[in-house]
Amino acid sequence: MSETPVIEAKDLKVYFPVRKGIFGKTLYVKAVDGVSFKIPRGGILTLVGESGCGKTTVGKTITGLIKPTSGQILFHGKDIRKLTKEEYLRYRRGVQIVHQDPYSALNPTKTIFHILSSPLKRWKLAKTRKELLDKVTYLLELVGLKPASDFLYKYPHQLSGGQRQRVVVARAISVNPELIVADEPITMIDVSLRIGILDLLLDLRQRFGTAYLFITHDFGAARYFAAKGGGLIAVMYLGKIVEIGPAEDIIQNPQHPYTKVLLSAVPVPDPEISRKKKPIKLRSLDIPSPLNPPSGCKFHTRCPFIIEDKCPYQEPELVEVRPNHYVACHLLAKK
Ligand code: SF4
Repeated sequence: MSETPVIEAKDLKVYFPVRKGIFGKTLYVKAVDGVSFKIPRGGILTLVGESGCGKTTVGKTITGLIKPTSGQILFHGKDIRKLTKEEYLRYRRGVQIVHQDPYSALNPTKTIFHILSSPLKRWKLAKTRKELLDKVTYLLELVGLKPASDFLYKYPHQLSGGQRQRVVVARAISVNPELIVADEPITMIDVSLRIGILDLLLDLRQRFGTAYLFITHDFGAARYFAAKGGGLIAVMYLGKIVEIGPAEDIIQNPQHPYTKVLLSAVPVPDPEISRKKKPIKLRSLDIPSPLNPPSGCKFHTRCPFIIEDKCPYQEPELVEVRPNHYVACHLLAKK
């Protein structure tokens, strides 16, 4: 019998009302439109897609920051809207988020000690000041901020972007979460420090068995994270998952045209391979408005492989094309 996942999203929909139409009708941005996935204990789901595809909304909904319009989020198999008080507290503590911007995620008026001791006090994980000091010191050293005494009483503005993101990660892991939603955790930090943060997240998973929902627009980062951590990759386009499967299989055998385009644009370090590699050209560079998405397959306005008499009219379903690897594209639909 398979283990109950830490988190499961079932047909998740998040629609935002935006403005009244000409006849007084409310229009909706379908930011997330029927997304389903499971993340087991210690598992990784890497969610990739361009800005505006709905991946951050998925992350915020999973952490309870946004209410879904419909669908379910299950925490250990139970709908989060039906949790008892104790179960809800376990969920709030068990699912933490690392936001993309380490500059705004930390209160500039508080010291690092204060920032890291707050969740410990809130969840009663340290009682005395000595215990707090020991735990905060441990957390700082765990995330590579050594010696901790150099950082304890500094303010966020005295740290670099990479150091701040390490503090954000330390705060997320301080309460021993079961799942961390890492929403573009390396986008706003220096390129030279990015690998360090990804390795830190993977190292923490190794030590504590933390599961991750890793959200990124950068397929290079997704490839690095997935190559080292495994798990699944899901590719999102305009609110829907268009391809989901084992990370290695998606990277080696991408099936959906959009995934192929994203992967073809990732630079490779080997100049020989790089010279031979030809990026796949899109029919249009413009991302359609999520307020008025294309009919049929939402990717048809940009897809270089469009089937003219089918794709603009029929929406493809996700179908299994390889073991545990699902794709929504008419080219791959079973005849
Ligand atoms: Fe392209 Fe058609 Fe497949 Fe959509 S369904 S990705 S338009 S080939």
